[in-house]
Amino acid sequence: MKLIFLGPPGAGKGTQAAGVSAHLGVPHISTGDMFRSAISNQTPTGLEAKRYIDAGQLVPDSVTIAMVRERLAMDDCKAGYLLDGFPRTVEQAIALDEISAPDAVVDIDVPDERLLSRLTGRRICGKCHGTFHISKLADAHTCPVCGGEVYQRSDDMPETIATRLKAYHESTEPLIGYYTGLGKLRRVNGDNQLEEVFKAILASLE
Ligand code: AMP
Repeated sequence: MKLIFLGPPGAGKGTQAAGVSAHLGVPHISTGDMFRSAISNQTPTGLEAKRYIDAGQLVPDSVTIAMVRERLAMDDCKAGYLLDGFPRTVEQAIALDEISAPDAVVDIDVPDERLLSRLTGRRICGKCHGTFHISKLADAHTCPVCGGEVYQRSDDMPETIATRLKAYHESTEPLIGYYTGLGKLRRVNGDNQLEEVFKAILASLE
């Protein structure tokens, strides 16, 4: 199955994608994770992407599309894919339709007023890459799953979050209309317990 998770930053796409990709047996492909790994490896793509990511802006389509094209050509994508964070513009969606069109698009819907506290409280484990909300951590610095050290993403600061939400509304939200027109859009309420959202996603795919 070829699947896309749409939704604003902080909607829970990454967390849900990890569970759903394991359930469906398709690779979880997060363009945000790919960029962060390219930045830490100091590749040309990482060096190009860093200034946009730090500013909360979208990385240019040409860079992002080239990276995804290469990733989708890999063997593990023969079974399908679960794309998390791509496409984020109509131009990217058109490119994806040419590379390998999705079967379904799940829009995980969370109101803006809930996103700010989700994003400013988000912590990532440097070791197992799990995502947690600070309110759920017994120790604000330690991963409850593997004991690794947790950190806050540099783009999860309030001033950068405002720019990211603006980019979402201006550039990414139009994809809801794009995929509705193609009859591929499924909408799920993301403002709920993790397990409930997971069940709703699977039900939307039946
Ligand atoms: P994410 O982890 O999905 O929130 O992505 C983190 C950042 O990476 C975004 O704020 C963008 O700067 C960049 N990024 C990720 N995916 C894309 C994309 N499809 N198009 C452009 N920029 C992206």
